[in-house]
Parts: sequence; structure tokens; C-alpha cells
Amino acid sequence: MSGNRAQEPILRLVDVTKRFGGLTAVNKVNLDIYEGDLHFLIGPNGAGKSTVFKTIVGYHKPDSGQVIYKGQDISNMEPYLRARLGFSIKFQTPSVYPDLTVGQNMTVALNRRRSGITNPEQEIADRLHMVGLHGVEDMLASRISHGQRQWLEIALALAVDVEILLLDEPNAGMTPDETFRTADIIRELNRRGMTIIVIAHDMEFVRALEPEITVLHLGKVFTEGRLSEIERNKEVQQIYLGKK
Ligand code: ADP
Ligand code: MG
Repeated sequence: MSGNRAQEPILRLVDVTKRFGGLTAVNKVNLDIYEGDLHFLIGPNGAGKSTVFKTIVGYHKPDSGQVIYKGQDISNMEPYLRARLGFSIKFQTPSVYPDLTVGQNMTVALNRRRSGITNPEQEIADRLHMVGLHGVEDMLASRISHGQRQWLEIALALAVDVEILLLDEPNAGMTPDETFRTADIIRELNRRGMTIIVIAHDMEFVRALEPEITVLHLGKVFTEGRLSEIERNKEVQQIYLGKK
């Protein structure tokens, strides 16, 4: 879904550059996200997608360029302060505690929130319901399916007060059915007004949601548009096939 373009972008990356030693992982990336957007970041492995996410939430500070939230330069703001602004991320690497139950994992995540928790059981039940995990609260996280664990990751990210949700490969390792279910979850969250940015690898996931797309390649914005335009782009096909 496209957000409200009549307003200023809620999030703006301006020439964001991040280097690791001699490697420029993110190279002058510009990105405008509007309130209510559903935006996908795609591109081959090593394109810099996860690094862009980490500069948005503050795990990396850009070497140059700015991260702007509602007109404010937050490039050097600490991650916990950005979390208070409403940034919430599901990283590419798992963050679920396998030896805790689904409900206990949620309690840990909920405890990160600063205030406004009046009925924790209800809040946890609501979040689990949003991702289709109601009824498995008492199961050990190690015992639920891979797909369910990925949905739990999303529920954990939803435990805080979210304004901008960032999901790094939420359908990694999923079956096609689970991927469609994940698309349904994301569509519903976006329909409720949440601004969502998703990193994805496969086009089937993108197809299920028809979002705005930014293609990254070698740390740079390669092209932007809707899926129909992206798919017709021969150069995009080539970078996905590793020919460039
Ligand atoms: P993507 O998520 O698109 O696969 P990444 O953002 O993870 O790409 O990585 C982009 C490039 O930066 C890769 O070459 C990767 O090896 C490198 N890189 C990512 N994180 C680090 C790090 N913490 N230290 C050194 N190099 C890194
Ligand atoms: Mg990545």
C-alpha cells in the first residue's frame, strides 16, 4: 500500500554511506518512506540491504549522509532512543529464545517497553493473534515449526509501540504456503496503518503484496518502482542471475 504522499516522508535516507574497512557496503543510498507505506527492499546477497536496516535503527552510524525521522536528523541517535520513537526491527538472525515458551518470549519482549502495559496477558494474546500463533503460548519455542518461529519473531517486534516496522527476510526458509501467510500478516498490519519496510529475496513474496520496491545492488539504489516495472527491467534480471 502507498502511504500519504501529501505529507513529508516519515523516514528519509539522504546519501547514506556505510563502510566496513575498505568495503563500501552502502553507497549514497536515498530512500523516502511515507507514513502508511509498505515498502520492499530487494536485491542479491551482499547488496547492503541488512546494513541499510541497521543504519535506520541505529546499530550502525552512517559514515556520511543522514537518517531523517519526521524532519529530525537521527543519524547518530542510539538504538534505544530510536526504539522510543517507534522503530522496531526483526533482524535477519533469529532472536527467539528456544528454551522459553512462546508466551515467555513475548513477556521478555514486552518488558522492553517503557510504559503503558496495563494488561500484559491481553497484550501478548493480541500480538500472537495478529501472527496466527494464538493457542501455542505454552509451547517451547524450540518445538514450534520453522514458519511459526518466524511469525513469533514478528510478534516480538510488535511487542513494543511500533510506528515503523522493519522486517529483514521474514519469510526466510519458509514453504510457499507459509510465505503467503506471512504476506497476509504484513498486509493486515499495513492495512491497520503501520508503516512497514520489508527485506525480501524472492519475487513470489513481493508478488503477493504489490508494494513499492527499491532494488539495491552493490550498496547502491539500482532502480525503484512497482513489481511489473521491476520485472520488465532486463538489468534487474541480470543482477539476480549474477551476471553483473
Ligand atoms: P544483504 O543484507 O543485502 O545480503 P549486507 O548488508 O548484509 O547485505 O552486507 C553488505 C556487505 O557488507 C557484504 O559484503 C557484507 O559482507 C558486508 N558486511 C555486512 N556487515 C558487516 C560487518 N559488520 N562487518 C564487515 N562487513 C560487513
Ligand atoms: Mg541481509
